[in-house]
Amino acid sequence: MTKLHTCYVCNKQFINAIYWYDSLHDTKYDKRIIRPFCGPPCANKYREMSDVNNYPQRKPLPRGEEWQLIQDINNIEYETD
Ligand SMILES: [Zn+2]
Repeated sequence: MTKLHTCYVCNKQFINAIYWYDSLHDTKYDKRIIRPFCGPPCANKYREMSDVNNYPQRKPLPRGEEWQLIQDINNIEYETD
């Protein structure tokens, strides 16, 4: 089954996500959120338009099922917004 992602920035639908935002690393969100990007331009754009970099990094990283390291979002179910 091929998973279809929706780019958080341009809303394009695509497969094989390589770039995404993961709320694991920053303190803005208290739950796991994944935001896929269709490519480097949208990933860069997100960095410019988002305020997530204004929040401190999460240290230490949270533990538990919800916070496991994600290497690949193409084969998992994830929550986005
Ligand atoms: Zn995009």
